[in-house]
Amino acid sequence: MIHEIFPVGMLACNCSIFGDEHTREALVVDPGDNIANILAIVQRHGLTVKAIVITHAHIDHIGGAQKLKQATGAPVYMNPADEALQKMMDVQAAWLGVPTPETVEIDAPANDGARLVIGAAEFHVLHTPGHTPGSISLWLPSERKLIAGDTLFRDSIGRTDLPGGDGRQILRSIHDKLLLLDDETTVIPGHGENTTIGREKQFNYFLQGLV
Ligand SMILES: [Zn+2]
Repeated sequence: MIHEIFPVGMLACNCSIFGDEHTREALVVDPGDNIANILAIVQRHGLTVKAIVITHAHIDHIGGAQKLKQATGAPVYMNPADEALQKMMDVQAAWLGVPTPETVEIDAPANDGARLVIGAAEFHVLHTPGHTPGSISLWLPSERKLIAGDTLFRDSIGRTDLPGGDGRQILRSIHDKLLLLDDETTVIPGHGENTTIGREKQFNYFLQGLV
């Protein structure tokens, strides 16, 4: 499977583009900004975007979703528990001192257990609240990859001091949903470098005592 990961926007949110080599269908995760770059990569691989997935409704992850939706016609998936945060986009824009992005209409709920099929690949939605109430992670078993949004980072976990954050809940989500995955699973966090489940179990200070 084609997989491009690249930082978008001023907070360098990791956007992922997955593409099936045979059907040329693609799924884009967290188009926070730089939609022209995203479209250029999609075009370079000859892909058609079939789904846009938002890991959570923070502006750096969702900010470009409406532009990408307009350009591709693809439906947008987000967990409904982040609707309140999405409605605060003007407040979020003020935190960063940037213009408020166009509102994107969510087409389908990314609920726990939902599966998105792109070509031969099946993406599993794991509801992992804590960083925000509607934070999700996307697990791709066929590639042993996890898109973790801002729930789990290399050597850290997502902040829980923003509206809707919950420090106990994020640890419960990580324990109950993410640490069950194989140690070899590659973790692609919402910001920064990749890691693996095994590495974070061993070295992540925030998870000590959890495993
Ligand atoms: Zn966030």
